[in-house]
Amino acid sequence: MCEIQIWLNRQEFEYDIYSLTRAFYPKSAVTVHCTDAFPEESMQPSKDQIFLLAWCGEKDIVTECRMEGQPLAHREAALVFPWERAKVKSQIKQLLYQTLCQFSGRTLIWGNLTGIRPVKLAADFLEEGMDADAAKAHMEEKYDLSPSKSGLCVEIALRERKILEGLDYQSGYSLYVGIPFCPSICMYCSFSSYPLDKWKTRVDGYVEALCREIQATGRMMQGRTLHTVYIGGGTPTTLEPAQMQRLLDCMKECFLLENLREFTVEAGRPDSITQKKLEVLRQYPVTRLSVNPQTMNQKTLDFIGRRHTVADIEKAYGLARDMGFDNVNMDLIAGLPGEGPQEVAHTLQCIRRLEPDSLTVHSLAVKRAARLRLFSQEHRELSMENSAEIMSMAESCARDMGLVPYYLYRQKNMAGNLENTGYARPEKAGLYNILMMSEKQTVLALGSGSVSKRVHPDGRVERCENVKDVTQYMDRVDEMVERKRQLLE
Ligand code: SF4
Repeated sequence: MCEIQIWLNRQEFEYDIYSLTRAFYPKSAVTVHCTDAFPEESMQPSKDQIFLLAWCGEKDIVTECRMEGQPLAHREAALVFPWERAKVKSQIKQLLYQTLCQFSGRTLIWGNLTGIRPVKLAADFLEEGMDADAAKAHMEEKYDLSPSKSGLCVEIALRERKILEGLDYQSGYSLYVGIPFCPSICMYCSFSSYPLDKWKTRVDGYVEALCREIQATGRMMQGRTLHTVYIGGGTPTTLEPAQMQRLLDCMKECFLLENLREFTVEAGRPDSITQKKLEVLRQYPVTRLSVNPQTMNQKTLDFIGRRHTVADIEKAYGLARDMGFDNVNMDLIAGLPGEGPQEVAHTLQCIRRLEPDSLTVHSLAVKRAARLRLFSQEHRELSMENSAEIMSMAESCARDMGLVPYYLYRQKNMAGNLENTGYARPEKAGLYNILMMSEKQTVLALGSGSVSKRVHPDGRVERCENVKDVTQYMDRVDEMVERKRQLLE
């Protein structure tokens, strides 16, 4: 595999140039050099090295790919004046994309897009007054998007608009509560999650700290309307029934839960779900539950360390239904080790039989999953690839089940440079997911590792983070409250 050296002179575009290059060459080592001097002398690649130039001059932009000293692909264009950061960024990405297409002989289905919220772009174009066809064409022209992805983005943007119709989201807010413990740590996990067996004795302390943050936040938000609540993690159902009750009682005391539009609890791992825990949830206005198989292939579940069986998934799902939960989501991941189209097709078939109200299809993101990287080195025979064909198979299956796409986002280092898409029965779409991804509403996030976002009336988004480390969180919870206070001021 070739090593890629990128030379650029505008540090502010480094992330986009790097990400776009990685999208073409996900397995290559990529080094970025940011320099003021045009690197003609330095750009003499040796064998197995690709040199990539993304240069923004005073009057023009140049992008070039070289191998063994020879320019093999080259583009240049006059700079659009007056100089505006967003316009120049867009121009340099377009040129670089064309250069990489010429050099590699390939195109990407997400074109030159490197951001994580492509639907937001489609929504902006619709907001500006374009109709669906014009927005789709503009996405294709500006971002070199494939027709399938531009169509998907516009479809979702239109659906989101309809779902949010009549909701005064600007005056309300949403709440996220994070429980960072899991029954075991999945090999691909890139969250800050802690194994329950080692942390069991600290969970009470964590719930107490969380309740302190809940009480303080409740006081800060008095008089504002709470629209949605999402308890995620980690795995919230690792809490014992009494701990769950303590948490939900505290939430009920501090926030008006009666007028909520949605209250989701991620029951995540089936090996954490029991009848007693679900009985506790039923005492509160929880409207939506997520039971996440990720895969219905036992071999893969064993590989990735989920320590439960396919039968456990079916049992937990059946229990949730028997207890009256009428909005149940299931998550699956495409690109898990050793899984190809056949394995994903099997998972989809099993999920189809269970008839969840929504299905979220993720592409494996291997950013910080060190254990997974290690694993993939030891098991080179196992693929960890996702493909457009797999995603389109999942999409067809979801649509056949009567589920339509309602939210979509992308992450760094996703298998196959693809996306995560949520599908739902039209009336069962996850409102929190839409508000969160479209960045239309302030979301206050409580618990370790959570990130709050304040959305200002002009659309500007301001963030504040809680510390990731659980012990630090428990020790410094008052400081987390103070951060929130400052965010809201
Ligand atoms: S269930 Fe989710 S949060 Fe928990 S270890 Fe697995 S991937 Fe990480």
